[in-house]
This record gives sequence, C-alpha cells and structure tokens, in this order.
Amino acid sequence: MIIEQADVIVTSPDRNFVTLRLVTDEGIVGLGDATLNGRELSVVAYLQEHVVPLLIGRDAHRIEDTWQFLYRSAYWRRGPVTMAAIAAVDVALWDIKAKAAGMPLYQLLGGASRTGLLAYGHASGRDLPELFDSIRHHQSLGFRAIRVQTAIPGLRAVYGVAAQTQVSGKRYDYEPAQRAALPVEEDWDTRAYLRHVPTVFEAVRNEFGPELPLLHDGHHRMTPIQAAKLGKALEPYDLFWLEDATPAENQEALRLVRQHTTTPLAIGEVFNTVWDYQQIIREQLIDYVRSAVTHTGGITHLKKILDFAAQYQVKSGMHGPTDISPVGMAAAMHLGLAIHNFGIQEYMRHGEATNTVFRQSFTFEDGLLHPGDEPGIGVELDLEAAAAYPYQTAYLPYNRLLDGTVHDW
Ligand SMILES: [Mg+2]
Repeated sequence: MIIEQADVIVTSPDRNFVTLRLVTDEGIVGLGDATLNGRELSVVAYLQEHVVPLLIGRDAHRIEDTWQFLYRSAYWRRGPVTMAAIAAVDVALWDIKAKAAGMPLYQLLGGASRTGLLAYGHASGRDLPELFDSIRHHQSLGFRAIRVQTAIPGLRAVYGVAAQTQVSGKRYDYEPAQRAALPVEEDWDTRAYLRHVPTVFEAVRNEFGPELPLLHDGHHRMTPIQAAKLGKALEPYDLFWLEDATPAENQEALRLVRQHTTTPLAIGEVFNTVWDYQQIIREQLIDYVRSAVTHTGGITHLKKILDFAAQYQVKSGMHGPTDISPVGMAAAMHLGLAIHNFGIQEYMRHGEATNTVFRQSFTFEDGLLHPGDEPGIGVELDLEAAAAYPYQTAYLPYNRLLDGTVHDW
C-alpha cells in the first residue's frame, strides 16, 4: 500500500490545530496531529517543506522504518518541532494500518488491558467557593479525578484558573493561548504561591473528603528546594500527583525533590524523546510520564518510553489539554487502553466548534474514556468545516516576577 497524497491542514475552530492527512493508493485516509501550541506554523513548514516530499510513494505499512528514516535522515534530531512532525506521520500510518486491518488501533497494540481510561478534569477558582463549584461541576460531568488550580492572592492572573479575568479580558476555559499579535504578560510570586496552595488543598479535603483523587500542576515555576517544600506541605492531603514541580529539562533537580517528599511526581509534557527520561526513570525520580503522543514522536516512540517506564513501575499520565487535537487524544486513548502501565489520562474537553471539525468515536462514561471500536483511531476530519476556520495568531502567556524578571509560565 503506497502513500499517494499528503496534506497539512491548519484549522482554528476554538484554537489552532495542525493535522497531517495521508491518503493511500487504496483510498485509505490516515490522520496525525502535529499541533505545537503557539508555534504551530513551524511544524507546518517542517512537514510541508521537508517531510511531505519524502512520504509520497513510500510503503504505508512500514511504520517503524518510516519513523527511523525521518528521525535519522534529518541528522538534526529531537526537539518539539521535529518530534511533532514525526508524530503526525506515525499516527497517520497507524490509523491507516488499523483501517486496513479493519480493527480499532488498540487491537493492533495488543488489545485492551482495561475497560476504560481513568480521566482527570481541570477544576479551578479565584476563591474557595468558586473552586468548590468547579469541582462539583466536574464531578457532575462524571470525572472521578480532579486537577485543582487556584488564583493566588495579590497576583492578577495565574496559569490554569478558568474564571479569572485575563489581561486580554477573555476566559481561560478552552485555551490559555490567546488570539493576539503578542503574548499576554502575567505576574508571579513563588513565595505567595507556596504559602497559599496548601491552605487550598486543606480546604478541598475538608469539603470533599479523603477519597477523591486530587492533582496539581506547578507548571515548572519552582526551584528544586521550593518544589521539595511544596511536596512536603501537600503530603497530608494525599495528592495523586504534583506535576512539573521544577523546569523539566534539569533531570537531576528531581533527586532533591524526591529526597524530601513522598508526594508522587509527574513530569514530561515538554519532553520529546526517551532520552529526556533516561535518568529520571532509571533513578525512579518520577511516578508518571506526562508525554503526549503528539509531542513525542507518535505511538511508536511513546510506547517505547512507556515500556521502559514499566520496568520501574512508572505509569502513564499523558498530556491532554485542548491543544492536543481530537486526533492526538484518540491516539493517546488507543495507546492507554493497550499498555499495562496506564496511570491516568488528562481530559480537558474540546469546544463545540472543534467537535464539528473533528468527528470522533470516543466515549466518556462514568469517569472513563474509551476510544471506540471504529477501524483506525476513530476520528474523521471534515475538510469543509476545517476550511471555515483559518489560522489565527495566538500565543501562550508568559510570566514576570514582581520586579520585572521574566519567569517560567
Ligand atoms: Mg501541565
């Protein structure tokens, strides 16, 4: 089966998405997600200029060979742009192979290891009553695990809080990247954050009891000793995980955090390859791998990372914000259903416009996601609907400390 056609489709229903669409000589269509939030067009150019010309005429069944060819023949390896582009090709080829086999993709990956994927949703609030309402709302939607993010007294706008007034005047609900010519500036004060967050988790535990799994995202803003302090302070509230406690590229930083706290650690949404995880998995410095299929070279490479992680009892916790397109989410669900060391799946839910562009077969029932049983990954891209939403410039915000220093956002 030969790849005859390869198109890169950019659409912006609720936010920008980049999708690779492959068509074989047998007329089978495969989709891959190449969305890199805030840097979308760099992957479009990488695919259109340097990858699409290499795909035409290739055997669509040779997934591993195509992966190795794209990775090694470029010479310049790794990085989010390269790995998102390779991921899109990889997922599109798995979609094609599963359609050709007449099976949902998870069957080709070994079949289902569970009935569904435990998913966590994003609750947030500017104050405790608003946060409690948000948690209850997510429980009413079926979520059995909840991420808790909170505004910080004295700060204007903080990552992950949906209802707070943004500098742009818009809400965060579906997407923190804001459609504007320049990125929005937010403010940050780590000491104020470290004082406030434990009081919020204490209040949430008092209100919702000991059983509800709670998660929290530090979003790379702490030093190792600050992260250690927060992990220790949160121990009484029994978190499912503390995510991105430190900037993830310094793998050694996790040693210090680990020495001080038993709060489980999750990291890696900005990682691209198994080599970014080598030390922290081998030294058992983390508990969950946060990589998405979309940003880690696709199913082929993320499965290798998760198989490596399984040797150390480290589980999956795949990234699932709205900038992972329905195509990327579907790929994650098939992989998560098949592997043994699945942990939890982030599920932020896409907006209505996105769901009209991408027709999806997945279900979310009783807190569990399932990719469905259509052949392939179970997503169809409506080209006409996609064309109605052209690309719009949008950037993620960035942080400055109170003295004006740029800080991790
Ligand atoms: Mg995160």
